[in-house]
Amino acid sequence: MTPSLTTRSWQQQLDFDQRHLWHPYTSMTDPLPCYHVKTANGCDIELSSGERLVDGMSSWWAAIHGYNHPRLNAAAHQQIDRLSHVMFGGLTHEPAVTLAERLIKLTPAGLDRVFIADSGSVSVEVAIKMALQYWVGREQPQKNQLLTVRGGYHGDTFAAMSVCDPVNGMHHLFKHALCNQQFVDKPRLSFWQDWDPAEEHQLRQVFEQQHQRLAAVILEPVVQGAGGMRMYHPNYLRVLRSLCDEFGLLLICDEIATGFGRSGKLFASEFADITPDILCVGKALTSGYMTLAAVVTNADVATAVSAEKAGGALMHGPTFMGNPLACAVAAESLAMIAEGHWQQQVAQIEQQLQQQLNPLQQLAGVNEVRVLGAIGVVEMQQPIDVAAAQQLFIQRGVWIRPFGRLLYIMPPYLIEPEQLSRVTAAMAEYARSVSA
Ligand SMILES: *Cc1c(COP(=O)(O)O)cnc(C)c1O
Repeated sequence: MTPSLTTRSWQQQLDFDQRHLWHPYTSMTDPLPCYHVKTANGCDIELSSGERLVDGMSSWWAAIHGYNHPRLNAAAHQQIDRLSHVMFGGLTHEPAVTLAERLIKLTPAGLDRVFIADSGSVSVEVAIKMALQYWVGREQPQKNQLLTVRGGYHGDTFAAMSVCDPVNGMHHLFKHALCNQQFVDKPRLSFWQDWDPAEEHQLRQVFEQQHQRLAAVILEPVVQGAGGMRMYHPNYLRVLRSLCDEFGLLLICDEIATGFGRSGKLFASEFADITPDILCVGKALTSGYMTLAAVVTNADVATAVSAEKAGGALMHGPTFMGNPLACAVAAESLAMIAEGHWQQQVAQIEQQLQQQLNPLQQLAGVNEVRVLGAIGVVEMQQPIDVAAAQQLFIQRGVWIRPFGRLLYIMPPYLIEPEQLSRVTAAMAEYARSVSA
């Protein structure tokens, strides 16, 4: 018999949770309601109170292959019976090697040096360190600031926060602890608008004035995720790439949310046909099984960072770096990505989202509907009452977690059309209810 973790009922656990556990961005004194999960399978989350919910969130972009997947389970089981963890300093193992090999094969040519990190935020810290050490190695240590766009999100650790949107990212709370970085306005043109060369002129001015102190540009390619769920014009990214080349800056693409097919491309930077110097991946890397991320860079960056003048080595090494369990699951998840079914799945989700969400654009309470790949966004005119909306969604048998004015979904790729219809119907019902 499997030993039980607790003798408490789920109601008692919820009560304990409310008094003792922090949740993401949640008040400890006046928290939003929290639901107790029993199991999750495929695209279904089952609550301890009995409801079955179709998952619209992939647990924040992560569970692309759904929950309790037989292949990912098998990878975890096999690995745990061999080796759960061993330090990565001076030791290596098959899961890390296989993961790196598959990652290199999937990422654009030239990106073939892999740093395995333990979360998305940590991978952003590592990417930033690489960029700073690169310029120390190149004897230009004054190039130590980052350039980024407003409306971005790169994680919750301090260097990552310093490049998040200054307003959404609550910079005022940490004013004296955050590094001062350079910001430009968010890309003005959406994914679907016609390109306007004026965009380039503004960016060029910033590069001309600031390039001597700038180490790198960091941004989310094409889709700005948690900072506002905006999809911007791929030419913007193309222009940034060529300005980085012209003025000598590294380009860091944060594909932690967009990587592995979510946008309809394997990596969103493919919309612009560009290759970054440093690429961060995370979230879907283990399909949501455990926390893992990676930074992939090229030989030029790896060489400069390893130069004597740069300290001789990248100055980072997490205790759980290259954790074999997480690497084994990630390697299997990438094998599934490489098989390519995601392409048809994401295309079908995109088509269905367009059909079912685009009509909501007409409602008075809706500001804009945006669909790209397996991402559907209904931006409302007014902030959403999350507790009330969520109660409605649970009654309708779906799991969606809105924030601000955004009602948005990014379901697991294996969602069935009927399941997805259920999710979009619930979104439509909410949008109509506040438009009346
Ligand atoms: C979620 C996210 C991060 C942070 O990843 P964590 O694993 O939560 O630390 C960074 N960048 C982007 C684009 C993200 O979506």
